[in-house]
Amino acid sequence: PAAKASAVRAAFLNFFRDRHGHRLVPSASVRPRGDPSLLFVNAGMNQFKPIFLGTVDPRSEMAGFRRVANSQKCVRAGGRHNDLEDVGRDLSHHTFFEMLGNWAFGGEYFKEEACSMAWELLTQVYGIPAERLWVSYFDGDPKAGLEPDLETRHIWLSLGVPATRVLSFGPQENFWEMGDTGPCGPCTEIHYDLAGGVGAPQLVELWNLVFMQHNREADGSLQPLPQWHVDTGMGLERLVAVLQGKHSTYDTDLFSPLLHAIQQGCRAPPYLGRVGVADEGRTDTAYRVVADHIRTLSVCISDGVFPGMSGAPLVLRQILRRAVRFSMEILKAPPGFLGSLVPVVVEILIANLVLEDEAAFLASLERGRRIIDRTLRTLGPSDMFPAEVAWSLSLSGDLGLPLDMVELMLEEKGVQLDSTGLEQLAQEEAQHQARQAEPVQKQGLWLDVHALGELQRQGVPPTDNSPKYNYSLR
Ligand code: ATP
Ligand code: MG
Ligand code: MG
Ligand code: MG
Repeated sequence: PAAKASAVRAAFLNFFRDRHGHRLVPSASVRPRGDPSLLFVNAGMNQFKPIFLGTVDPRSEMAGFRRVANSQKCVRAGGRHNDLEDVGRDLSHHTFFEMLGNWAFGGEYFKEEACSMAWELLTQVYGIPAERLWVSYFDGDPKAGLEPDLETRHIWLSLGVPATRVLSFGPQENFWEMGDTGPCGPCTEIHYDLAGGVGAPQLVELWNLVFMQHNREADGSLQPLPQWHVDTGMGLERLVAVLQGKHSTYDTDLFSPLLHAIQQGCRAPPYLGRVGVADEGRTDTAYRVVADHIRTLSVCISDGVFPGMSGAPLVLRQILRRAVRFSMEILKAPPGFLGSLVPVVVEILIANLVLEDEAAFLASLERGRRIIDRTLRTLGPSDMFPAEVAWSLSLSGDLGLPLDMVELMLEEKGVQLDSTGLEQLAQEEAQHQARQAEPVQKQGLWLDVHALGELQRQGVPPTDNSPKYNYSLR
């Protein structure tokens, strides 16, 4: 059976964390924080804009970010990346979608590593046949004084992509910009051939790797960024469709429960996935619009954007009205129908995540229990439970059981924990952490991304894994 969407998302995050040392960060809200240039968050990179511009508060946690990965909730309705009009008409655009991304800040890694990680993930971890993948690179823009990105072309060739599947395009396709102003740069994209080598290729864009090098100023000019960065984004819905062997994002487990609920709620003819002229009565288009829009409405409202009179709220109101009109006029929905779909969205986007975390934690709990039982068998009747074992249960990356839970489990077994020993371990750990941080704190300095980049260029080795103190000043 094909991987479920939640497993696909988890595999992306685990790949960047476990194989390539990325720190996982949560999705930001779809409501942009302090950025009037955006109506909604439209890409994973939005929350890192201060890092790109070199304006990050050096005391903030973000100042320590070197390699991070996440899954970002994105809304593309209104503004520069506006897909509202396309939604429903095709099988790959949504107003709300999740963008999986990885970042390397300040030269932590650049083109070569970014391309090879992406290739490794798609072909080895997800097992997508390499012959189905096409790539594109930026072929320059003489008017803006931008050179063709032949380096990236060479990287793809050296990764084994045949020249026939390495294409190049101009700024329209291969120069990514966040908005009318803001960070931007040449990009390279990975596309998937739905036709599978039969007849003309039918490409769907999967992943965009952007090499952030410029800032688009209000006067339209391009200014160089203080440092270069990697910024990538891949649509989860499209990736899941590919991995589930579907031509349409709507035929995946991210949408099919919604389409089913729409059919039930409207007593409409079943969804057949037709597009264009084939979808004569626009029934299938209506299905897609309603399924898409209810996701967007649910996510926006849960992030605090409500339908309203101007700006993003106005766009959201238009989305709501579009959904109502399509469902009433085409699908003959009864009043109150739209609201009844919200629990289905919750089921798809939230309940499944809870179920997975629940299952993972149950497994840890089971292992913890076995370790406790094994340890108990080695103890005499008046022995206390060893602090080291309790500590490893609570802190070892795999188990991570809360300490009070470990204590409770022991209490239930009628054993006492060596709490003095445990306290000592905690103190030692705290001292260890403080020592690690010392070189920086002593000098009263906070490292900023520029300093970090400079140190890295000079080849100063990292000192520990703590994100704030990745490099010590010596
Ligand atoms: P497209 O050309 O298909 O409109 P894009 O070039 O506008 O995509 P990017 O800005 O490069 O998209 O975003 C990165 C990735 O996010 C894309 O490669 C794609 O997988 C996904 N994506 C972009 N827009 C949407 C959308 N409206 N719905 C679903 N996924 C999307
Ligand atoms: Mg687009
Ligand atoms: Mg594109
Ligand atoms: Mg793109």
